[in-house]
Amino acid sequence: MRLNDCDPGFKHQIAAEPGGAGIRVCFGCAACSARCPVGANRPEYDPRRIIRAALLGQREEVLASPLIWLCSSCYTCGEVCPQGVRFTDVLTAIKNLAAREGHAPPSARITAELLAKQGRLLEITEFENEKRAELGLPPVEQRPSDFQSILGIAPQEQDAGEGA
Ligand code: SF4
Ligand code: SF4
Repeated sequence: MRLNDCDPGFKHQIAAEPGGAGIRVCFGCAACSARCPVGANRPEYDPRRIIRAALLGQREEVLASPLIWLCSSCYTCGEVCPQGVRFTDVLTAIKNLAAREGHAPPSARITAELLAKQGRLLEITEFENEKRAELGLPPVEQRPSDFQSILGIAPQEQDAGEGA
């Protein structure tokens, strides 16, 4: 690591993101790493190493790393952190920065596109609603505008004329 390549503002950028403020109080004890179920199976995934690299300003290494997308969001790390850091949320802040800079993996991009387009990951078709009717359940409407208004994103083209 070359100090000249480090970005001292990176930790502040993370802290300014929703959920990212916890990075300020991490003291690198590694309790999170000791209990992480993903790290237990993938030793290259280490929460403490990620947060330490972020604190050191290794911006490009952190944002471009495929490892940051391995977290299962189980929140075990937050349960054991003596500093009350919710690493899961800090990592979400990091992933949001990474996504904005084009580092999101295809699976995350496709998931986001499906949510923006239809408000859920599974498209509800006549088939699903017929099965629901057979069970005496009401039909599920496609109302992506509900989700889009929560996120504050513009309606997709095919949804633009839909009544809420
Ligand atoms: S357990 Fe908390 S304080 Fe310790 S390294 Fe992990 S995030 Fe930092
Ligand atoms: S939330 Fe992510 S980093 Fe934390 S323990 Fe679970 S898998 Fe590991």
